[in-house]
Formats: sequence, structure tokens, C-alpha cells
Amino acid sequence: MQQVPALEDQRLLRTTSYVDGAWEAGEAREVLAVNNPATGATIAEVRTANAADTRRAIEAAHRAFGEWRRTTVKERAGILRRWYELTIEAAEDLAVLMTAEQGKALFESRGEIQYGASFIEWFAEQAKRADGDVFSGATPHTRAVCIRQPVGVVAAITPWNFPNAMIARKVAPALAAGCTVVVKPAEDTPLSALAMAELAERAGFPAGCFNVVVGNPQEIGAELTGSPLVRKLSFTGSTAVGKLLEEQCAPTLKRTTMELGGNAPFIVFDDADLDDAIAGALLSKYRNSGQTCVCANRFLVQDSIYDEFCERLVAATGELVLGNGADEGVTQGPLINTEAIAKVTGLVNASIEAGAECVMGGKPADLGECFYPHTVLRDVTPDMPVFRNEIFGPVAALTRFKDEAEAIALANDTDAGLCAYVYSRDIGRVWRVAEALEYGMVGMNEGIISSEMAPFGGVKASGWGREGSRYGMDDYMDIKYLCVGGLDR
Ligand code: ADP
Repeated sequence: MQQVPALEDQRLLRTTSYVDGAWEAGEAREVLAVNNPATGATIAEVRTANAADTRRAIEAAHRAFGEWRRTTVKERAGILRRWYELTIEAAEDLAVLMTAEQGKALFESRGEIQYGASFIEWFAEQAKRADGDVFSGATPHTRAVCIRQPVGVVAAITPWNFPNAMIARKVAPALAAGCTVVVKPAEDTPLSALAMAELAERAGFPAGCFNVVVGNPQEIGAELTGSPLVRKLSFTGSTAVGKLLEEQCAPTLKRTTMELGGNAPFIVFDDADLDDAIAGALLSKYRNSGQTCVCANRFLVQDSIYDEFCERLVAATGELVLGNGADEGVTQGPLINTEAIAKVTGLVNASIEAGAECVMGGKPADLGECFYPHTVLRDVTPDMPVFRNEIFGPVAALTRFKDEAEAIALANDTDAGLCAYVYSRDIGRVWRVAEALEYGMVGMNEGIISSEMAPFGGVKASGWGREGSRYGMDDYMDIKYLCVGGLDR
């Protein structure tokens, strides 16, 4: 069954890779079917790029870098700004396309387009502020000057859970810094990436500055990581693939940014405002059907309020509506594919077998092949699979704790260190706990924390590098020290 999404501007639906300012013909290449996870229908067939196409994209990016790095910051800012404006103008089409290929509820897709665009706008502004420093000289006749220069060609490998924003968050700072980029989007969601390239072309980026190659991850990944012309890899995805790519980047000593998996604790103390905590829990847990790396993965709830929190969470969760994300009133769409269903089902079943009590949901829903219902498990202990693994599904797992020390120990009992949440109205406690948490980001009485103005990133096995904020261009720039001598002559 073919079901092409109807867009106001149908030219946003591109089905070939974009290399060196041209839409690839790629007649002889294999075809990748893009499916709507809500209906199972094929929405487009994309002609894939292979290793040779990827090499051409890298070479084009390398050629373009020579010119692009020499443009003024004002020129780069202007083109980025135009890209931002075109994105906002096309927002509804981009959202419709995203829901069709990714499944998330339409209001969430609309939100993501605005969120992704906010990075383009932000880095259009930041481009003008990538200044250097002047330091004292080591001798009376020298001065030390630091300038910041773009690292070169950047490869970006991105996931399907935020098909637009994860690209914008990497590509905008890279282009702002004067780098050029080759993006490999996830195979489940290439259409959003190609639509971004279409708008970037209209915005006026010179050929080769921004390339998108769609195809086999191993084949394209090997080219991107192996090429000496690529000076940096920015990756968002699973920890397992991140480790593999890090190894592949080692021989050419590439700089890397690694935004990897999370296992976010959501800690609720007995002095928390429970209305706030429940509202935050719903947003943090069920957004994108639980498929974000900052989703609350483990609810750690203090003894005396454990039962009440559980009852209230179940009641509030019962108000949410699972269905086709394109339908009015739906709050959560399907999971991305049948493998995701199998993974979540496996984690839930194994945890129930190990003693967790399922108080809501717990079995795939019969709305289609990719639907998993909102699920609440209580009496979860640290040995259980839902505690130890990133669930990436709409499953709330509740664990009990006695005191602050135990809450911190449970929260830190994982390799991951991306995002944590803590709810308490005691300002001393919330501050103490936030400082003790081994995470790159902490929501203090707040369940949604991402913004273009704040640094996003993790510690431990969640990776390194910070995206967004005034630090967001650092990963795309080298500091060069100029020792200015001869001041005495
Ligand atoms: P997820 O589990 O969220 O799908 P992955 O880490 O598998 O996360 O995927 C994130 C991105 O990494 C996707 O674009 C995917 O195609 C890509 N990817 C997966 N395996 C490889 C690989 N071996 N080499 C390069 N890219 C890969």
C-alpha cells in the first residue's frame, strides 16, 4: 500500500540523497522503503547512496570548506537566518512529513520543528560571537592571541527519534563555525532530513556545504569514519553504536561528540509538590511514546508517598490517548518499528517474571503492528531489566526508596549519565541531590528541560560534548594560539 503524505509544497518530499548541491539520480541504487509506523503503509521509496556516493559527498564538503570558511560571520549568519525563516514557513508540511515517517503525535512534530528551528536561529546569532581572546605575553615583547577556526568537514550520524532537531542541533553550529557537513540520517526517517536539505538549498548555502546521504549505515559509516578528510564526527544514537564509531574514528584521530543512551532517574521526595511531579512525570515519560534519551526511565519514589504517587500516575496516564499520531486528540503514536515493540515487550515481560507488578498496560495494543500501550510497573528492583536498560517505550517503572542517600545511590547505579530529575520543595535537598547526581543534566522540579539556550549532553557512558547553548560551537572549532613577537622592535 502506497500512501504519500499530502503536502502544501510537495517539493519538500525528496527521495534521493543530496550531494554537492545536486539531487542524486542514483538509478542503479537500491531502494529504501519508508513506512508509516501507524499504518504500515509505504510513504516513499528513497534511492540509497553507497560508499562511492559518500566519498563524493565528503570530497564536495572538503572543496566547499575552502570557500565557506572564508565567508564572513555575517554572511554565514544571514544564510542560516534564511534557513530558519524557510523552516518556520514550511513548519506544517515538515510536521506532517515527520508524523508520517516517525509516528509521533502531530502536535509533538509541530513542537519539534520549532525546537529544531530554534537551533538554526540561535547559531545564526552565535556565529557572530565566536570570538577569540588576547592574553599577556610571556615576555615584555610578546603577546598571546587565541583565534577560533572551524575544524573542517564534519560527519553527522543521527537517530530517528527526533528526525529534524538532532540534525539541526549539529548542522547549524557546524555551518555557523565555518565547517561543512555530511549528514547520514536514520534509515527509518530520511524524509525529514532531505526536506531540511531542500530548504537549506533554497536558503542559499553554496554547493557542498550541506550534504545528506541516505543508505546502509555500516557502508556509509565506514566511509565517514575512515576518511582522513572528515575531521569530526558528531553522533547521536545508542551507546553500542557510539563505541563502535569511536573505534572506527581512532585511526584518523577524529574529534567526536557522542550523545548516547540514557537511563534517567526521576526522583520524587515526600516533600515534593505531587501535582507538579505528576505533570512532569507524564511529560518526561510519555513524550514521543517514551522514545527519547532523556525520558524518565526509572521512577524512584520515597516510601511514604509511593502508593499515592503510583495511584495518581496511573489515573493521569489513563487520560492519554494512543493512536495514529496524525489523528485529532491522539497524545501518543506508535513505536518506530516492530523491533522496538519486541524490545519493550521483552523488557516488560522479563521484569514481571522477576517480580514487578503490572498495574496498567503491559501487552502490545491491537491498533497496528507498532503500538505499545501506556504501561505502569511497580515494585521494580535494581536487578530488573527495566531498571538496568533504557526502555525507549511508554513504560513507567516505579522503585521505592527510604532516604536521600538511598535515592542518590539508586539513581547513580547505572553506566548512563545523561539526564536526571529531582522533585522536592526543600531547596537545600534539591540542590544537594542535583550536585550528587552523576549526570550531565538535571531537571529540578521540571520534567522537560531541553532548549537551544542550554547545554545538552551527558557524562559516563552517555558520552561527551555539549550541543546548543553558547558552548555548542566549541566542538566545531579549534583554538589556535598566535604568539605575537617583536613588540620591542
Ligand atoms: P537506535 O537504537 O536509536 O536506532 P542506533 O545507534 O542504532 O540507535 O542508530 C543511530 C544512528 O546510527 C542511525 O542513523 C543509524 O543508521 C546509525 N548506525 C547504526 N549502526 C551504525 C554503524 N555500524 N555505522 C554507522 N552508523 C550506524
